[in-house]
Amino acid sequence: MPVRNGGVSFWWQQVGLPSPADRLDGDATCDVAIVGGGLTGLWTAWYLHEADPTLDVRVVEAEFAGFGASGRNGGWLSSELAGSARTYERVAGADGVERLRAALRGTVDEVVGVAAREGIHADVVRSGVLTVARSEAQRQRLDGELTAAQVAERIRVAGAVSGHFDPDCARVHPAKLVSGVARAVRERGVRIHEGTRAVRLEPGAVVTERGTVRAPVVLRCLEGFTAGLAGHRRDWLPMNSAIVVTEPLTPGQWHEIGWSGQELLGDEAHAYCYAQRTADGRIALGGRGVPYRFGSRTDVDGRTQDWTVESLRSTLTSLFPSLRGIGLDHAWCGVLGVPRDWSASVAYDPRTGLGHAGGYVGSGLTATNLAGRTLRDLVLGADTELTRLPWTGHRVRRWEPEPLRWAGVHALYRLYRAADRREDAGLLRTSRIASLADRVAGR
Ligand SMILES: Cc1cc2nc3c(=O)[nH]c(=O)nc-3n(C[C@H](O)[C@H](O)[C@H](O)COP(=O)(O)OP(=O)(O)OC[C@H]3O[C@@H](n4cnc5c(N)ncnc54)[C@H](O)[C@@H]3O)c2cc1C
Repeated sequence: MPVRNGGVSFWWQQVGLPSPADRLDGDATCDVAIVGGGLTGLWTAWYLHEADPTLDVRVVEAEFAGFGASGRNGGWLSSELAGSARTYERVAGADGVERLRAALRGTVDEVVGVAAREGIHADVVRSGVLTVARSEAQRQRLDGELTAAQVAERIRVAGAVSGHFDPDCARVHPAKLVSGVARAVRERGVRIHEGTRAVRLEPGAVVTERGTVRAPVVLRCLEGFTAGLAGHRRDWLPMNSAIVVTEPLTPGQWHEIGWSGQELLGDEAHAYCYAQRTADGRIALGGRGVPYRFGSRTDVDGRTQDWTVESLRSTLTSLFPSLRGIGLDHAWCGVLGVPRDWSASVAYDPRTGLGHAGGYVGSGLTATNLAGRTLRDLVLGADTELTRLPWTGHRVRRWEPEPLRWAGVHALYRLYRAADRREDAGLLRTSRIASLADRVAGR
């Protein structure tokens, strides 16, 4: 059977692709206009409405709520830092980094709690994440507390030499989560204008293909799609990530690989992979495909390249050789936003009424909620712990113009893959090639 490719994501195919609803029909006015109906935009709407139910908040979404990364991701609701610790440390010191880490840890509980209160059933299990090192260089980088034998007690990953278990992470079903948040937002009276693409943002207005929404507050929440908006092409690079999902494993196959819990699984390679055991007994495994498309283009409905599917298949069987020959039911990809310094930002300028949040570089599932609460405080003019986190107001330079951008990113990922090959071949420390790539990347 050929692998089904695209169709937005396996997650959306499971719950059913929605048709865009409540398209904008001519001009409108409101108090807060949010552009982008992913989790950043939806959480921001949810918290603004919770804080002040009299606010008229509207979300403008090009396709349907959850069409982007929020409905396509790996389902790691993790406390992992969204961005580079080194960069945050430069702007806010070690204490600032620790405050951001603590806020993200608390946000895992916040999301799980709000989901429970709002009746959002998103296959949430607070299962933690197991990261494995599969070479000496990875072992040194990870500095994990688990021996090879202890890793095998959790999951029998081929070649694992050590591991680290982080309890601050939950497994979720992405489409169930984002559609649940969208439902909760709508139930509060927030209108989500789906099928309505913004073409230009300006102080006081969101100009769309179907009319203009006028509002004193305009918040850009487009993450990997930011480059598609006039004037923002070089702000954040749309980086690709792709996922494959297997057919359901048999009880014998689960037993063979020893994955009896629900913990998430990742590795410490430079071109890392991430996996979850789905609620219906499959493995969803993701990693980088083609990292970046020329001119900051995004995919078409989540379709990924055939070689990416084969590359993820080989990662899967390298982790679990006994699964050689297992069928893959679905593959898809999506984009995440990468700022030039690989660090996220949440910002709002009360003089213009313009704000934004994003640039989470692949760790946005939890961060979107924290960013939404931070935007709420900024818009309402409150000085809180959240508005003092190091990513608030963080400024970053733009990416280089093409073809430099394309050449640079592809060179970067060639370097990371070369570093992984050298480390897999027995290098006893982190490859200098990877350190060079980090410097080139500006991480
Ligand atoms: C394959 C993949 C796996 C990932 N895995 C994980 C993971 O396991 N854990 C984790 O923490 N993070 C993960 N991420 C990252 C995480 O999913 C994102 O950081 C997060 O979902 C970003 O949410 P968002 O709302 O900012 O952006 P998005 O969810 O991308 O939402 C942006 C929205 O804007 C809409 N839009 C685009 N252009 C316009 C326009 N012109 N006008 C109006 N609307 C527009 C899009 O349709 C989209 O709905 C992954 C990302 C990908 C792609």
